[in-house]
Amino acid sequence: MIESLLDYDVAIIGAGPAGLAAAIELKHQGVARVAVLERDAEAGGIPRHCGHPPFGMREYRRVLSGPAYARRNVERARAAGVELRLRHSVVALGEGGVIDAASPEGQVRIVAKRVLLATGARETPRSTRLISGDRPFGVINTGALQSYLYLERLKPFSRPLIVGSELVALSALLSCRRTGIKPVLMIEQAEKPLARWPLALFPRLCGVPFECSTRLESIEGRERVEAAWIRGSDEELRRIDCDGVLLTGRFVPESSLVRLSHLELDAGSGGPMIDQYGRCSDPAYFAAGNLLRPIETAGWSYREGRRIAALIARDLTDPLPRSHPGIRLQCLPPIRFCVPQRLVTPIGDGLAHLQLRTERPAKGILSVRGSAGVVWQRQVHLLPERRILIPLDRLRLAAGESGLTIELEENRERSR
Ligand SMILES: Cc1cc2nc3c(=O)[nH]c(=O)nc-3n(C[C@H](O)[C@H](O)[C@H](O)COP(=O)(O)OP(=O)(O)OC[C@H]3O[C@@H](n4cnc5c(N)ncnc54)[C@H](O)[C@@H]3O)c2cc1C
Repeated sequence: MIESLLDYDVAIIGAGPAGLAAAIELKHQGVARVAVLERDAEAGGIPRHCGHPPFGMREYRRVLSGPAYARRNVERARAAGVELRLRHSVVALGEGGVIDAASPEGQVRIVAKRVLLATGARETPRSTRLISGDRPFGVINTGALQSYLYLERLKPFSRPLIVGSELVALSALLSCRRTGIKPVLMIEQAEKPLARWPLALFPRLCGVPFECSTRLESIEGRERVEAAWIRGSDEELRRIDCDGVLLTGRFVPESSLVRLSHLELDAGSGGPMIDQYGRCSDPAYFAAGNLLRPIETAGWSYREGRRIAALIARDLTDPLPRSHPGIRLQCLPPIRFCVPQRLVTPIGDGLAHLQLRTERPAKGILSVRGSAGVVWQRQVHLLPERRILIPLDRLRLAAGESGLTIELEENRERSR
């Protein structure tokens, strides 16, 4: 039962860097009634849990720890006059900007002229990684580790096995070192570390052995983790004595709300489909931050939130070009996804780039192809964790274009 009804010019779901930056920008642009709905008891998003630097270098021109950065974002939002509604968990998105939230005061219905979705991303938990064996305490993700260490001041283990080698695995390693936890081994299923060189050297510099082409098969332990069974490139099964397993990376957008709603979801990115204005399939909804794709840094999410907020502010007074029919973008393997997934002509001044990710390392000629042939082309070296940006103002679009395909022709020199 709906207990209260609230209305706003813009309602933002999620008080992480993207949501807070968007709220601050909207207030600076003169939008009167802006609220941020956050399910946690505190605003700030993921950086609240990351007790390590570097955060905020572009936003505040100094190196901050995650919690200090989160605090500054919250202070800026409050000072700008943003209404922060904490412990408000949004549970449903309705057509035209009607959303429902569960709060300590009961069910709240919010009617907003525009809604910005900024619910972030999370790591894949054990349940969806198909790891067999026992289910003892001590198998966690980096997010949980960081909140145990920095928010609860608790150590969930002292000799864990770390699974994964994305940037966040290195930040987990940093958190372990700072708190006296000594990982026994770090493993990566891929042939090469996913973090870029020289960051990939970091585990060894910390004295933690690191093995690629190695996967976690099962976990052993009655109450607590006692061992992990791993299989390396020689296919031999090995028992690793440890008291915890830290599952890092393999991020997915936090898109449960979008899945349950009328909004179109992109299977490639796992986030909502948007056009270059950050607008979803229902033009009352926009999206920004790591909900759009797994994953970018806090700084990137902050800038993206601010950019899309400026477009929302404009849309409220001077409507953006009509969203449909747009130009649909299709990605062929190994290109995993592209954001935005739809373009509206003229390209104008929305997001400046198409952002792509690949599913595996690959080299070759990356092309964007329209109905009349190639509209953009470049020789590239792609890695799964590296962003690829295609400047939107470089696409030579034919009049009346309705679809573009992004494809990689592997190992060929650029055609002249
Ligand atoms: C474990 C982990 C570690 C990371 N470490 C780093 C790092 O060291 N450095 C770095 O730059 N980036 C890091 N990242 C990337 C991180 O996603 C970005 O730094 C940044 O936080 C993204 O900002 P955001 O606003 O998009 O999302 P988030 O910061 O994730 O904020 C989203 C907010 O939405 C709220 N929310 C979600 N669903 C709802 C709902 N239904 N109703 C109401 N509120 C909701 C969440 O509670 C959260 O506060 C890490 C990510 C993860 C998952």
